Amino acid sequence: IAGVHASPLALHPRTGGPNNLPIIDTDLSQEEDETTRQLAGKPKLVIIGGGWGAVAVLKNLRPEEYNVTVISPDNFNLFTPLLPSACVGTVEPRTLVEPLRKIIARVKGHYMSGKAVDIEMGEKLLEIEVPKDEFGNTRRCYVPYDKLVIAVGSSTSTHGVPGLEHCFQLKSIPDAQAIRRRIMTNLELASLPTTTPEERKRLLSMVIAGGGPTGVEVAAEIADMMSEDVLNYFPKLLRSEMSIKIIQSREHILNTYSQHISEFAEKRFARSDIEVIKNARVSAVYPDRIAITVKNDPRDPNGKVESREFPAGFVLWSTGIAMNPFVKTLVEKLPNQHHSKAIVVDNHLRVKGSPLGTVYCIGDSATIETNMVDYLMDLFDKADTNKDDKIDYQEWEKMARNIKANFPLAGSQFEKVHDLFIKYDTDKDNQLSLNDVARAFYEISKKITSLPATAQVAAQQGEYLGKKFTTLTKQHDNLIKNGVLDLDDPAYSKPFKYMHLGSLAYVGNSAVFDLGGYSFTGGLVAMYAWRSVYWSEQSSVRTKTLLMIDWIKRGIFGRDLSKF
Ligand code: FAD
Repeated sequence: IAGVHASPLALHPRTGGPNNLPIIDTDLSQEEDETTRQLAGKPKLVIIGGGWGAVAVLKNLRPEEYNVTVISPDNFNLFTPLLPSACVGTVEPRTLVEPLRKIIARVKGHYMSGKAVDIEMGEKLLEIEVPKDEFGNTRRCYVPYDKLVIAVGSSTSTHGVPGLEHCFQLKSIPDAQAIRRRIMTNLELASLPTTTPEERKRLLSMVIAGGGPTGVEVAAEIADMMSEDVLNYFPKLLRSEMSIKIIQSREHILNTYSQHISEFAEKRFARSDIEVIKNARVSAVYPDRIAITVKNDPRDPNGKVESREFPAGFVLWSTGIAMNPFVKTLVEKLPNQHHSKAIVVDNHLRVKGSPLGTVYCIGDSATIETNMVDYLMDLFDKADTNKDDKIDYQEWEKMARNIKANFPLAGSQFEKVHDLFIKYDTDKDNQLSLNDVARAFYEISKKITSLPATAQVAAQQGEYLGKKFTTLTKQHDNLIKNGVLDLDDPAYSKPFKYMHLGSLAYVGNSAVFDLGGYSFTGGLVAMYAWRSVYWSEQSSVRTKTLLMIDWIKRGIFGRDLSKF
């Protein structure tokens, strides 16, 4: 292959892969160093991605059990929950990243900069594309694996809205930097004496499409910045000229949280002059304005739909997730893959349709196929304390809490637990039969897709796989002796079980906590509790230190208003 020797990937190329691409063996057994000798002959574990899921696998693997290779375009792990703070300079980008090489060093693994593009599952080969060199050349090659973990996350959903090229997204560090640059540019332009009042109003009009946690936190951070820094240092600008709007398609913002939390956030935003436009959808985005439609009565299918347009100087598009392009390629090739947003895996996180015990998928790119019938029967049995095959209101409440904890996305559906009880108690005997519960749950489950796309889910799944892979190598000889051929046999390893630890969000000098049925909202105390949680979740002492310094710096000196 021409030029392959110039590539650092070409250390030990084995030719003969499909499409005549080289196979890059990461088993460095030709090199005579200590690590090489220790890893020679160990099973090859290839992890695609360097996000929450991938890092949790790495942190839970026992060193030197596998010959580990991590493939990701970015050579760092990103702490996504604080990205909204980086959009206005409350924290600095470098605080949110940890180099992957430092994390991989613990398991003596390799890092390869590149993107997975395809898999030859029969031959256990992963096709990757390495980044362009300075001459614009790119190369493809295969990396062999014994076990493969797909943890590539998701893309942003577009909903087919025209004009999204005029919007900003928030998924990565460059996204946060671009947002910060745009906001600062608009503030400087708005302050110029040559700017007309109409243009100033447009420049200072910040619109956020999507009232989920990311949209809400970005709105809160912008409002904080306006009141704490901009008004002090931009004397020409008035708060009344600045506007922050959230366009939310549902009846409430933070609609996967409890209703109490949504209402708290809405009241808080009303006090901070953040306008929440509910039951509204973006119909188009233009370079200087945004068009929306608002339903006056969302419950009335024939209700009036009003069209509105307003000027916009900055639009953030944050309306949910879509399938990662690599995942899309795989899903099209595999049988029995039917989900529109992710790869379907079983409850051992094995990709449905892949050869047993070789390909796993976790995090945002995976969705677990749940056996709803078994799940419901089990919950019903547990809730039915006097075993009369009917459950009363108290038992139903318990059951609803349980479902909500396992399916956090069902949160808002279960808010009206009492109404649901009345609705499905068809024979009006103040009890629900299994049939009634099944009907209630069926209706609700149509709105639920397995687990939410959160860091919490990805991290728990990564931890599960890391521990499981370690156990498998420890028990390897025993299992073989007992005639178990599939080392991933469900009889030997328990299925993955998600434990919902709660959801939280920052809503502007205050925070909200939804702890699976119990909620907690508040001002500064809640904000410090929110900070403590994120501080304790930092992946290294280095990022903990940087984060503390950033918060102290902002407290003493305010945000850095320089524009680069
Ligand atoms: P990611 O963490 O997204 O990692 C994917 C990795 O795969 C990345 O390293 C990427 O570079 C790499 N990759 C992508 N394509 C390829 C490819 N083809 N080949 C190789 N590598 C590839 N969740 C919470 O629980 N709490 C929060 O407060 C929270 N806040 C958030 C705020 C923001 C702004 C965002 C964007 C997300 C937030 N989330 C939060 C969601 C959370 O970040 C995701 O659910 C989580 O990152 C999913 O982890 P993952 O490992 O599946 O994917």
